Order: sequence, then structure tokens, then C-alpha cells
Amino acid sequence: MAIKDTGKPMNHMAKFSAAFLMSRYPEPDTVPDNVNRVIVKENGVFVSSGNHPELFFSGDLKDYNLEIQRTQYLGHRDSIAYYADDVSSESDLPGWTYYPNVRDLFGILSDEELAVAALAVRLIDFDRSTRFCAQCGARTRQSRLERAKNCDTCGLITYPRTSPAIIVLIRKDDTILLARSPRFPPGFHSIIAGFVEPGETLEEAIHREVREETGIEIANLRYFGSEPWPFPSSLMIGFVADYAGGEIVIDNHEIISAGWFDRDHLPLLPSTMSISRALIDWWIEKGNNGKK
Ligand SMILES: [Zn+2]
Repeated sequence: MAIKDTGKPMNHMAKFSAAFLMSRYPEPDTVPDNVNRVIVKENGVFVSSGNHPELFFSGDLKDYNLEIQRTQYLGHRDSIAYYADDVSSESDLPGWTYYPNVRDLFGILSDEELAVAALAVRLIDFDRSTRFCAQCGARTRQSRLERAKNCDTCGLITYPRTSPAIIVLIRKDDTILLARSPRFPPGFHSIIAGFVEPGETLEEAIHREVREETGIEIANLRYFGSEPWPFPSSLMIGFVADYAGGEIVIDNHEIISAGWFDRDHLPLLPSTMSISRALIDWWIEKGNNGKK
């Protein structure tokens, strides 16, 4: 099933992208002295205390009594290299505040720094969980040529996992379909989303998810944009579609209520850092075939 191309770009500039930090390979053989660091503990990060919280630590780590368990290269910005350091769970950084959940830093850090914080946690977790080869059990080695682990015993190369997920805004006249998952806080609604199954195209995944969760049929799929969603490892791929038939029948499992909402009666919506909100905001502004 081909995506219908209307010729109108709907480029979504992902807010949640860490791409400004471009990885350069091969990685430096040793960590340079002058670097910016993200200090990771468990699945959280340290942020400087005070009125202007910052993610990046540029001081001398030797001044602090930190037990560093692993270091991961994040990338470069101009000539500055960025690394993530994983410190032991007892570690504390005086003058810095620990945030166990990166999502809680929304609105505290810039979108860019937030994306790098999530990347740092993600890559530290990748390093922790791939110390041994999943195929033969031998100790792995960090590749310096790409973001991967090499097993010298059996040859397996392990890459950080990214799970593609589709998300689709469905329009019907001057309304959109919004639904509630049982995981959402009270009153909160979003658009239909789900993971792509092995062997499936993005288009097939969208039609299947919409059918399974709401019972309706859609048409006129158009690509909107994509956004990394590193909680822990998704890539959200956003589309716009039009209602094509059927009555809403919810599955009562992934979705506990769903309905058509116009612009004047919108419920609580996802946060502005998500592509779901970007899709809804796009529709609020100009998504109704040019009519408002
Ligand atoms: Zn192996």
C-alpha cells in the first residue's frame, strides 16, 4: 500500500532529537581531558543546582570522590567531545541535583539537553546490558568505528535496539479521533499509536493498530515526521489519515474510550515535547484541508 503524496510538505522538526551531537568515528582512543560530561546514575542524571540548571559537567572529576563504572562516547559539537559517565548508586555530586527520571527534567532543561540526557542514559544502559555476547556469552568489546559491541569469539555485532512505532492523527470532517489508554492519567487523551511488528510495513502497522484498537478504517495516509522517543528506545513515525468508514469499537484493553473531538472541545492532551502533540497542534492550526 503506497503512501499518497499530496505534494504538500508536513515536515515535523523533532524537538526530541540529540542529532546536534554528531558522533565522529573512529572514537578517540582515550577520553580527552577537556570534555563535557553527562553524569549518569542508574537511569537518571545529575543537573547543576541553582537558577540555571545545566546538564553538562565540564569540571575535573578528580575533584569529586566519584566511582566511575563506565564511560560512553556521545559525540562531538564542534571541537568539544561529549561523554556519559556512569557512577555508582551511592555516588553524590555536591552542588548538583540527581533526577532519577529524565522525563522529570522537561521544562527544566532545554529540549536539546533533555534529548542528550535521554541519549546518555540510553547508551549507558546499552553498555551495561551488552557486556557479554548474547550468542556465546564471551565478554564483548566496544567498537570504536560505530555505535556497537563486538564479540571477538563468535563475531556477533550488537547494536543499540530501536523499536519503530507508528502514530497517526485521524481526521473526520472537523474532528479528530482521540482515545484513552488505561495507562493515562484521568481525562488525558491522545491519538492512536503502536509498535510495528516484525515483517510489517509502517502502512500495514497503522491500518492494523487502528482496526484493532478502534474498529474503524482509514485512508489517505500521509507522512508527517518522526521523533526519537528514548523511553526507553522508540522511534515514533507520525502520519495523518482520513476516516474512511466503520463505527468506533474499542478493544477495552489498549484503549478504554475513544471519540471524535472538535477544536472547541479538546480534552487533556500529551505534552508539547511529543510528536502526538505536534500532530494535534498541526491539525488545530491548519490540518482541516485549509479550512478552520
Ligand atoms: Zn559471541
